[in-house]
Amino acid sequence: MSVVKALFSGRIASENLLPYPQLREKDRESLALILDAIDQFLEPRRHDFQRWDRDGAQPAEFIQGLRDLGLFGLIIPEEFAGIGLSNAAYARVLSQTSRHDSSVSLTIGAHSSIGMKGILLFGTAEQKARYLPRLASGELIAAFCLTDAGAGSDAASIRTHAEKNPDGSWTLSGEKIWITNGGIADLYTVFARTPTAAGKISAFLVESRWPGVSHGKHEDKMGIRASSTTTVTFDGVRVPPENVLDADGKGFKVAMAILNNGRTGLGGGAVGGMKALIELATAQANERRQFGRAIAEFDLIKEKIAGMMVDCFASESVVWMVAHYIDSGSDDYSIEAAISKIFVSEAMQRTAYEALQIAGGSGFMRDYPYEQAVRDSRILTIFEGTNEVLRLYVALSGLRDLGRSFAELRSALDDIFNNPIKGFGILGGYAEKRLTQATGIGRDRISALLPASLRTAREIYEKYTLELAKAAEYVLRRYGKGVADRQFELKRIADLAIDLFVGACVLSRAAALAGDASKGAQAATIATLFAQRSKRRMAGTIRRITRNEDDSVRMLADFALAERGYPWDVV
Ligand SMILES: Cc1cc2nc3c(=O)[nH]c(=O)nc-3n(C[C@H](O)[C@H](O)[C@H](O)COP(=O)(O)OP(=O)(O)OC[C@H]3O[C@@H](n4cnc5c(N)ncnc54)[C@H](O)[C@@H]3O)c2cc1C
Repeated sequence: MSVVKALFSGRIASENLLPYPQLREKDRESLALILDAIDQFLEPRRHDFQRWDRDGAQPAEFIQGLRDLGLFGLIIPEEFAGIGLSNAAYARVLSQTSRHDSSVSLTIGAHSSIGMKGILLFGTAEQKARYLPRLASGELIAAFCLTDAGAGSDAASIRTHAEKNPDGSWTLSGEKIWITNGGIADLYTVFARTPTAAGKISAFLVESRWPGVSHGKHEDKMGIRASSTTTVTFDGVRVPPENVLDADGKGFKVAMAILNNGRTGLGGGAVGGMKALIELATAQANERRQFGRAIAEFDLIKEKIAGMMVDCFASESVVWMVAHYIDSGSDDYSIEAAISKIFVSEAMQRTAYEALQIAGGSGFMRDYPYEQAVRDSRILTIFEGTNEVLRLYVALSGLRDLGRSFAELRSALDDIFNNPIKGFGILGGYAEKRLTQATGIGRDRISALLPASLRTAREIYEKYTLELAKAAEYVLRRYGKGVADRQFELKRIADLAIDLFVGACVLSRAAALAGDASKGAQAATIATLFAQRSKRRMAGTIRRITRNEDDSVRMLADFALAERGYPWDVV
């Protein structure tokens, strides 16, 4: 059962949280070799990365080096000449490359996480045999082409289209924008509207060498500047029938499945970035002296460093929990994956911001790595689904399942007359749930599974799981179907779910480390800190569900929108 869906109904699905998952032995062995090779290849290029960030390009010889290291075949099964890593091990690889340079992670990640993932998830045996070995060697680099100029978050409204020809082939036309690896890819997974009955979207595998395929210039970006981002144009491109991914008209489902499945790549990368920044920030804090002391001695600097540690540990905990769900074959992890993307992207941005602040004026200078980290991490809350849209997704998906249980309840009332046993069974369960929500009696407890050092954290999550269920039920009953347009309420529900799920992952990992002499005590401290801070956030969020300034916020925004700006001057 999806852990987050369970949280929405007040349940802690501890069987899917504990014990904290471990890496496969096979992955452990491969990883040791790969991580070492990555460090040897990337470490000497530290100054090149700075230069390539300014120039805005990775040289072809460098990309060849990535090929030679096997970094394009990380998650392709061994039978297709790949390395066959699990998602957990793959995320660990991207965390290592990100310690050196984010653009490198993006080049590899856009290929594996989204570019060719569709073939792994939905490809026919023939498509796999035809493309995967060449994708594994990096002979083919892949890119994911969903975004159109007029359709970003609202991906279902893309205008790129494909018409079916009498011979079964397709003619594809349209322009995709901001495609990562757009300028270096040989194979594109392209989403286009097709004339199925409902005008639905289909997914196509398109080779860059085919007539009519071209890409635009390298975009001049704020961050991840060395990674390739371009438009990709399809001008009457003939796509053979064997290059449709999954069935005609199933493209939107394919796109969403790829993005969900690929989230641990982005998450792993961000975790590596945070670790590199914590190393830099602690060194800087120890070495920089002001007022006769190392700035590390000041509490306001310690506060930032402790915050980074909590954010990094929590990010790591949630990314690898989600990777485990994917690796264990679950098909119900999309809410958890969305939460991991939201939390980790924001944690990485906080870390980059605070690391730069610790470095003071030096942090602002381009000779130091902090400003690049701030620029590079800025994209994380925008691409692969903006965090706003993902928050709505988290809340609405959780509420949808809860709503279904209400529907079941409604039919139970009817059933009381037709089938009393079934009807009373459901109502009995409902009455019990209401009693639990009102009194806490009978709430899910996970104490038996956790060490005493985690008691404070555990009690907070047990209590607030019920609070989420109550809040979710409240907004669903108050707004019914109209809840889809209640974005303030949805954001609050999503924020509760994020704190609870990430907190539960932290708790699980801290429990796994409890017996570890070198890490156990710190892990328990982090879990308790995270829980206490999230408790304060959650209490405020719950209060604001019924007592808030939403109307004033809307009114003020409408005023500014109508005025097209801020219309006053003091003098
Ligand atoms: C560097 C870079 C690399 C990229 N790589 C790829 C790639 O490889 N493949 C690909 O297909 N795409 C890629 N993209 C596109 C990216 O996925 C989109 O930018 C993203 O989906 C957001 O779309 P948009 O930029 O059009 O913003 P919009 O959708 O216009 O959103 C603008 C703002 O409005 C908010 N918003 C939108 N809808 C709602 C709503 N319903 N409720 C509340 N708020 C809302 C958004 O959260 C955002 O803050 C890339 C983009 C960049 C910048």
